[in-house]
Amino acid sequence: MTKRAYKYRFYPTTEQAELLARTFGCVRFVYNSVLRWRADAFHQCQEKIGYAQASTRLTALKQDPELAFLSEVSSVPLQQCLRHQQTAFKNFFEGRAKYPVFKSRKRRQSIELTLSAFKYVDGQLYMAKSKAPLAIRWSRPLPGEPSTLTISKDSTGRYFVSCLCEFEPSKLPVTPNMIGIDLGLKDLFITDQGERVGNPRHTAKYATSLALAQRRLSKKKLGSANRAKARIKVAKLHAKISDCRQDNLHKLSRRLINDNQVICLESLKVKNMIRNPTLSKAIADVGWGEFVRQLAYKAAWAGRSLVAIDPWFPSTKRCSDCGHTLSSLPLSVRAWDCPKCGATHDRDINAATNIKAAGLAVLALGENVRGMGPVSVSCSR
Ligand SMILES: [Zn+2]
Repeated sequence: MTKRAYKYRFYPTTEQAELLARTFGCVRFVYNSVLRWRADAFHQCQEKIGYAQASTRLTALKQDPELAFLSEVSSVPLQQCLRHQQTAFKNFFEGRAKYPVFKSRKRRQSIELTLSAFKYVDGQLYMAKSKAPLAIRWSRPLPGEPSTLTISKDSTGRYFVSCLCEFEPSKLPVTPNMIGIDLGLKDLFITDQGERVGNPRHTAKYATSLALAQRRLSKKKLGSANRAKARIKVAKLHAKISDCRQDNLHKLSRRLINDNQVICLESLKVKNMIRNPTLSKAIADVGWGEFVRQLAYKAAWAGRSLVAIDPWFPSTKRCSDCGHTLSSLPLSVRAWDCPKCGATHDRDINAATNIKAAGLAVLALGENVRGMGPVSVSCSR
């Protein structure tokens, strides 16, 4: 059994919106004040504070008569936010993330509710301390009783509930198809069959309206109601861009998974490439990292194999017919002839063909493939 989140939009009543606003506020307050306390302890006496101590600190905060408002909301999300903070610190100390930052009122707000803080009765969800069920737009059926709810409000003011449920992935029927894909910027990816999937460049499409909205926002007086309205306009454009990108990536990754048993791609060092200032915007916009993440979990659920080959493998410069490797191939050269065997190659299709061959070799031989360096194989079955 795996767990899977099912996310829905919902429309709170005035009373629910008010309760949520108070809960978001309390969670933010607890998170930030405990974070400040931990940071002080760390800087002043090099003391590392664990979850148990943070939790004791929460109890102390709640006993402070000036902070009585903390007892007016469910205690579960307050506790849960400290668990998340613990994970954030763990990621920081193990070198995976930056130092935890304070939560801001202006950004996405979220709370996590465990079983004692909500009810699921007759297909309806109820939050603790609220009588009415959540008015959820059930875009797909919920398969069972959720174990955890995450309620969030994004920066444009939309409310979502994400329900974590047990889920039995159903394997797709085995297909003989195997594919190699080369991720790119002009096209999101190119397959070894020669199919080019264009890059919709969502950010570029909305760049002008975004610039206008941002300019208008910058001219509004700080703290004014008009500034708040202008801020929402900017946030809505950002949300639109991100929704479009996500929708497109989900459709494409679903199609690749449905049609192919094995998908081979290059494991890109996206983080390093994003540091390249001339390309960073385009790379962030195309969403390679998210695309690979979607392929990985969908492959695992469907019983497909996703093979990521090492980015140092010379997929572009190598002739896919005879294996001859060129010493260099400038980015501007889109097609070339192999000096050894004379084959004519399209740059990207040749790369995708090489990626496929390398990936299949990895699958067949395991990890020690000569000349290809370290290889990561993820989610293969
Ligand atoms: Zn050749």
